[in-house]
Amino acid sequence: MTLLLKVDALNPDREVIRRAADVILKGGLVAFPTETVYGLGASTYNDEAIRRIYVVKNRPMDNPSIIHISSLNQLHEVAEDVPEELEEKLKIVWPGPLTIILRKSSRISAVASCGLNTVAVRMPAHPVALTLISESTPISAPSANISGKPSPTRAEHVIRDLWGKIDLIIDGGESFFGVESTIIDYTRKPPVLYRPGPFTVEELRRIFGEVKVPEQALGLGQFKEALAPGMKYRHYAPDKPLILTECGELDGLVKLTLDLATDEVKKGKKVVVLCSSETCGSYAKVGFRIIEVGSRLNLYTVAKNLFHSLRLIDSMDVDLAIAEGYPEVGVGLAVMNRLRKASGYKMVKCTA
Ligand code: AMP
Ligand code: MG
Repeated sequence: MTLLLKVDALNPDREVIRRAADVILKGGLVAFPTETVYGLGASTYNDEAIRRIYVVKNRPMDNPSIIHISSLNQLHEVAEDVPEELEEKLKIVWPGPLTIILRKSSRISAVASCGLNTVAVRMPAHPVALTLISESTPISAPSANISGKPSPTRAEHVIRDLWGKIDLIIDGGESFFGVESTIIDYTRKPPVLYRPGPFTVEELRRIFGEVKVPEQALGLGQFKEALAPGMKYRHYAPDKPLILTECGELDGLVKLTLDLATDEVKKGKKVVVLCSSETCGSYAKVGFRIIEVGSRLNLYTVAKNLFHSLRLIDSMDVDLAIAEGYPEVGVGLAVMNRLRKASGYKMVKCTA
């Protein structure tokens, strides 16, 4: 049995949040909005509840979740050896869409850390998430989707994937950013970027100085050895095939995408193009079906609609989707990382 409760994202009703907190404290599973995507949360201190998250998501048991906290006191509860200089920086960046990997404290069980000696910790900047944690306990939460599918950015996505399998869904409308948090490993020197997100590399370097950006973090290719556990799994993918087109120059990108779409139509395929406000007209005017993802002038709009657009593909009468690529600057890095993984690395590049 799943209960659905609606709240105002910016000014959530405390009574509703207390009900949800009660579910967490009693060992239940609650899906809740964060500023990045919807999370599926359980008490970090309840092994049984955490195990259930893996069962309902069908998530590999060696892929740890992020521990969500609402205060710096809780940081010291879940992590050890937190450098003083880091704490000063965290006061600037938290709450926010940045996850830090640190050594785990003895309070964190092998189940909650997937047997690692580190934990990933974040203080979310969403009133619903923050209040839920402060009314309960640190919350371990991966994204609230079936493993491998696009992450949920709306309650309807959670309902589609997990209805009947979890105790409660808090509907707080759309997530603000639409892509998962940036992850850096602070147990390494210099810190290493594991997953690009809304907190950009440019911002990271301004606050933390040197930060290493390995090729894996860009979502380029499959790797023999994953830097972080979650990196080795296929992610964010619609059921239908997706091809990603990449070209440094916009006219070239449109031509490449149009040529590819035309070829596929000749093979008898029904195609939809995932395009931007600036380019969608070029495909629509020659009869292609389109999903407008966002504007190239503000890549945060692309990030926000990305996972919903990927989910739309499966609800349409098409055989194949072709998605335009975006510049790898700012949040564009996170968008491209997700699109590359969503395509299963089926990428076509222009020759120019
Ligand atoms: P999700 O946001 O649902 O994709 O899941 C959380 C992400 O955090 C996954 O990509 C994990 O691999 C990553 N993560 C969690 N804990 C750790 C850790 N101790 N070390 C490295 N990565 C981690
Ligand atoms: Mg996930």
